[in-house]
Amino acid sequence: MADPSQPHVPKRERARRLEAARALCRRKGVVLTAPRALVLEAAIGLGTHPTADEVHAAVHRKEPGIGRATVYRALEAFVAAGVFTKASHTGVAVRYDAIPARHHHLVCLRCDRIIDLFDGGLDGVAVPDVSGLGFSVTDIQVQLRGLCRACQTKEEEK
Ligand SMILES: [Zn+2]
Ligand SMILES: [Zn+2]
Repeated sequence: MADPSQPHVPKRERARRLEAARALCRRKGVVLTAPRALVLEAAIGLGTHPTADEVHAAVHRKEPGIGRATVYRALEAFVAAGVFTKASHTGVAVRYDAIPARHHHLVCLRCDRIIDLFDGGLDGVAVPDVSGLGFSVTDIQVQLRGLCRACQTKEEEK
């Protein structure tokens, strides 16, 4: 069933992301073994900031011999090489993000859904001086929190 609040990633865009991720793997020296290639394809196919378990479930449907630990190690290798990022959402399982380019997230407080937001204005947000806290900032990502469309609909039905 189509998920109304998770914009469907068109097939062509998925193919483009997969090709870009493969090229990035080559540049970064990440060897795409058969299991890793499946993990890459599954994670990009899900497109919804999947957890390791969700990626494993998708891989498992195609190749039941691949275990959860293999999937987890592959995802971490992609993160280490900058092919994926981690969409941090504290308190729940790590969500992997197949888009390494700068973007922001709409996070649903009810169902934990993460929706990508590309916004030049947010990209330019000035980083405050936090050197006094002994912290070195390497990146900035804005999280807008609220209710997704599906959860708003449920709210109205009550
Ligand atoms: Zn929701
Ligand atoms: Zn994202």
